[in-house]
Amino acid sequence: MLCKRIFNKFGGIMEEEAIKIVSAELLKGAKMLPTHCPKCGYPLFEKDGKVYCPICEKLKNEDTSEEKDTEKSDLDINEILTEKINYLAEKLKDEKEISRIKEIGEALYILVKIKKKMVKK
Ligand SMILES: [Zn+2]
Repeated sequence: MLCKRIFNKFGGIMEEEAIKIVSAELLKGAKMLPTHCPKCGYPLFEKDGKVYCPICEKLKNEDTSEEKDTEKSDLDINEILTEKINYLAEKLKDEKEISRIKEIGEALYILVKIKKKMVKK
């Protein structure tokens, strides 16, 4: 998969960790955008009008690991994910531009992946 390949370039961050970061953003109320980060290939997020890449920001702040426990997030992420997946799928249905289809598809791919991880645990 494309994302994985790009990710291996980083070496520093595992896909597993990336998924955790992305889901934490969703829980914080950030919106996943259909556009992706040119550096890492993961979807960009928007919160309070600010567009950012949580993965790259995380990599930047790697040494200052004052991370809050994302484990105890008992919010229904599954429900949020389903909602977003449906939203993206709906968008994908009407999209005719190839580059956008690719973007939405990638975002969908990530979401479905996160969802799978959630169910597993
Ligand atoms: Zn990035």
